[in-house]
Amino acid sequence: MRVLILPIGPVDSRVLEALKLRLPEFLPLKEVAISGDVLKVPEDAYDPIRRQYRSSKILSMISAYRPPVDDERVLGVTGVDLYAPGLNFVFGEAKSWRGPAVISTYRLSPEYYGMPRDDEIFLGRALKEAVHELGHALGLGHCKNPRCVMFFSNSILDTDRKGVQLCGLCHTRVLENLKGGIF
Ligand SMILES: [Zn+2]
Ligand SMILES: [Zn+2]
Repeated sequence: MRVLILPIGPVDSRVLEALKLRLPEFLPLKEVAISGDVLKVPEDAYDPIRRQYRSSKILSMISAYRPPVDDERVLGVTGVDLYAPGLNFVFGEAKSWRGPAVISTYRLSPEYYGMPRDDEIFLGRALKEAVHELGHALGLGHCKNPRCVMFFSNSILDTDRKGVQLCGLCHTRVLENLKGGIF
């Protein structure tokens, strides 16, 4: 399985590099590349009342730009604030099985919560959210284990509590999905 990291709008290059380097530690990936293209954040995703961007519109744009294929997952990374209907915000969203996936760094920095800058925390959170959304794109649902990266994050506290790793059950399931030739 390959992952293509696709920046959407201006994105901190340290995030892209950290994901490229570390994603294979937590998911069975052969290759992670950073796209040379940077897509514009789609204007039709913007809700002027919420002042946020609808994540499903960004997923549609990613699919149109690079149609999903069996052996590749595309991970969009954006700096804008994302929402989904019924939720105040989302850290990311993915389509199940073939993707695409997207994460937002907007709510991941300690500064956003009034804390001092801490790159280690910021990049660690981005990695967790990326593993989580790619987990969905590899066929995983949410996990009840609050330490598992597939646990649903309702807030940054949930993100900080959970690990970067898939739990044993989720890890086995991903390997079965890949082996089953579903992809
Ligand atoms: Zn999720
Ligand atoms: Zn799990």
